[in-house]
Amino acid sequence: MQKTSGIHHITAMVNDAQRNIDFYTGVLELRLIKKTINFDRPEVYHLYFGNETGDPGTVITFFPWAKQLKGRIGTGQVGVTSYAIPIGSTPFWENRLKKFNVESISSVRFGEKYIKFNDPDGLQLELVERDEGPINHRSIGGVQAENAIKGFSGAILYSAQPHKTTDVLENVMGLECIGQEGNYLRFKAEGHLGNTIDIQLNPSVRGLMGAGTVHHIAWRANEEEDLLRWRLLLQDKGYYPTEIRDRNYFKAVYFHEEGGILFEIATDLPGFSVDEPVAELGKKLMLPSWLESKREELEETLPHVEVRVLEGDK
Ligand code: ZN
Repeated sequence: MQKTSGIHHITAMVNDAQRNIDFYTGVLELRLIKKTINFDRPEVYHLYFGNETGDPGTVITFFPWAKQLKGRIGTGQVGVTSYAIPIGSTPFWENRLKKFNVESISSVRFGEKYIKFNDPDGLQLELVERDEGPINHRSIGGVQAENAIKGFSGAILYSAQPHKTTDVLENVMGLECIGQEGNYLRFKAEGHLGNTIDIQLNPSVRGLMGAGTVHHIAWRANEEEDLLRWRLLLQDKGYYPTEIRDRNYFKAVYFHEEGGILFEIATDLPGFSVDEPVAELGKKLMLPSWLESKREELEETLPHVEVRVLEGDK
């Protein structure tokens, strides 16, 4: 059976592009690895933040759109996005969040201490110490590599039908259920990042898509052939996967699982350095070839944004 090694990326919706960049690069010190546009709506940015080299398992992406109505976090969504930090770095991050006026609380799940907080649009995030996962060699602003976020540790899924979501995690994506604690079931994938998925077993209110909510979660596949096999398996099991779509940096298939969450399966290749070298990632507005002729027009319409050092780090 095919197994995903874990989360490839998570995509969410927010209102303000600059505020989004300030938080994910300025406070969390992730790297803006790609500044492009929503391929289906070119007047909206698509911003990607990841580790220094933009590896799968580290990448959160956003569609910032000012006029978008606020959503509601609830069932049918990824409720919480979790990041792995190096062992011993919890006090550093508690202090740093405080310095930037981000309220946080700590909670324990499956014996691990999580720092929980929200981003400026209300997305629920958490940090947890993990030994697994390569060190993110990013030393910039107020965060040195010894404390830098490595990438995802995992996510909490708010499924409308937890047992159906369990079935898809185990029997389609190839994760293994490793335990239950209170209202959470924990699943593990084989990779070193984005490998711990918790399903919350007491479904809350129904989620509404909009600013401040996760749009979808993508799982890692190696190459296009894997996508073809997963598509067949999904069709066999009665799901309705999309055709394989070319997203420039990866190829992808999408489907709704029965708990209401939009799942994507995305290839590791070709990756984010396909159109600009690793040293230059995120500096320039990147457009797919079919939109290159509209560059001038798009650059005028899109709001000006920049990666900048925040007051607290000056
Ligand atoms: Zn995606």
